[in-house]
Amino acid sequence: MLIVGGGLAAQRCAETLRRGGFEGRLRIVCGEQYRPYDRPPLSKELLAPGADEAFPLFRPAAWYGEHAVELIAGVRASELDHEARRVELADGSALHFDHLVAATGARPRTLPDFAPYANVSTLRTLDDSRRLRELLGEGRRLVIIGAGFIGLEVAAAARAVDAPVAVVELARQPLNGVLGAEVSDLLVRLHRGAGVELFFETEVSEIDGGERVEALTLTNGVRLDVDHLLVAIGIVPDLAWLSSSGLPTSGVPTDLGGRSALPDVYAAGDAAAFYDPFLERHALIGHWEAASRQGAAVARTILGEDPAPAPLSSFWSDQYGMRIQYLGHAALADEVTIEGELDARDFVAHYTRAGQLVAAVIVGRPRAVPELRDRLSYLTEGMSV
Ligand SMILES: Cc1cc2nc3c(=O)[nH]c(=O)nc-3n(C[C@H](O)[C@H](O)[C@H](O)COP(=O)(O)OP(=O)(O)OC[C@H]3O[C@@H](n4cnc5c(N)ncnc54)[C@H](O)[C@@H]3O)c2cc1C
Repeated sequence: MLIVGGGLAAQRCAETLRRGGFEGRLRIVCGEQYRPYDRPPLSKELLAPGADEAFPLFRPAAWYGEHAVELIAGVRASELDHEARRVELADGSALHFDHLVAATGARPRTLPDFAPYANVSTLRTLDDSRRLRELLGEGRRLVIIGAGFIGLEVAAAARAVDAPVAVVELARQPLNGVLGAEVSDLLVRLHRGAGVELFFETEVSEIDGGERVEALTLTNGVRLDVDHLLVAIGIVPDLAWLSSSGLPTSGVPTDLGGRSALPDVYAAGDAAAFYDPFLERHALIGHWEAASRQGAAVARTILGEDPAPAPLSSFWSDQYGMRIQYLGHAALADEVTIEGELDARDFVAHYTRAGQLVAAVIVGRPRAVPELRDRLSYLTEGMSV
C-alpha cells in the first residue's frame, strides 16, 4: 500500500486502513519534511503572536511505529509508471505498490507577474505560515491579492497584531459572492471596521520595485505601498507527478469509493475530483471535511467495505473570533433568508432554490448545525433540484 502525499487525506486513509484490519505493508511518501499536520490553523491561530512553538501534527511520532506506517518524509514523487506498478521519487529512488493513493493535495495559484520579486508569497505549508507570522509581528505593511477565505483570515490575523493590511479583489464581493450579498456585506463591514483596506472590482495594473515589490498601482487608480505581498487566489491540484500516467493533472476523477480510471490507483483530498451524485459530475472541493472523508472512503474501498455516503460540501472559517460554518451548495440558490441578527454575529442564512434548502451559513449557533446537516443530507444522494 503506497500513499503519495502526507496530509489530511493520507493520514485518514492510513488510519482507516489499520483500524479496518489492513495488515499489509503501508508507506506514506510525504513531500514536506514534517509528519502529517493540519492546515486550517495555518491561517488562523498559528498567525497569532506566541504561536511560535505550536505544531498542528495529527499524531505523535510513536503512532507511526505502533501502527507500522512507514513515513518517507522530505521527498516528492516525480512520476508514476503504472504498468510497472512503480512510483519514482525525486531523489532517484523508486517504490513499488499493489495499491496506490494519490493524496498530494493542492498548491496555491500564483501570478506570473510577481514571480521575480523576493517579498511575495503564498500560504499552504507550515513554513509559509511561520514566515508570514514573523512578518506580521514586525508590523510590515501587508497587501493581499484575493478576498477568499485564506486572504480574509490572514487579513484578520494581521489586524489582530495591528499590522497594516490591504486586500485587492477582482470580484465585486468577497468569496466571489458565493455566500450572497447579505453575508458578503457582513464580512466587508467586519473587515473595514477592523481597519482593513478592501478594494473590489480592481486589479494590479503596475508594479514598482526592483528585487522587491515597493508599491502597486491598481486599475482603479489607487496606489498601495507594499512591505510584503500575499497572493491568495485559490488552489490547483498538485499532480505534476502524474503527468505521464494518462490521468488528468487538473484533479483525478474518481467514483464514490475513490477509484480512478487506472486499476489499483485511487485519489483523495484536494488532488481528487470525486463524483458528486447530486451535481452529477466530478467536483474538486478543496475543503477539510471532504479530504478527511475521501481518505477514509479510499481505505474502505481497499478493505472491501461498502462506500460511505458522499460528504456534504462544507467548510468553516474563523475571522475576528467569529466562526462561520457553511454547508451545501449556495451557488444553486435563488433566494437567501436570514434568521437572527447579522451584526450580532448570531444568525443562520438559509439558501433556497424554488423553496428547497440547498445551503446554510451558520454563525454563533453551533447547535443548529446537526439539524441543518440533516436537512441537507439529501444533497449527498443522487437527487437533483
Ligand atoms: C491555510 C489554510 C487554511 C485552511 N482552512 C480551512 C478551513 O478553515 N476549513 C476547511 O474546510 N478547509 C480549510 N483548508 C483546506 C484544507 O486544509 C484542505 O482541504 C486539506 O488540507 C486537504 O488535504 P489533502 O490531504 O488533500 O492535502 P494537503 O493537506 O495539502 O496534503 C498534501 C501533502 O502532499 C504533499 N505532496 C504534494 N506533492 C507531492 C509529491 N509529488 N510527492 C509527495 N508528497 C507531495 C504536500 O507537500 C502535502 O504535505 C485550509 C487550507 C489552508 C492551506
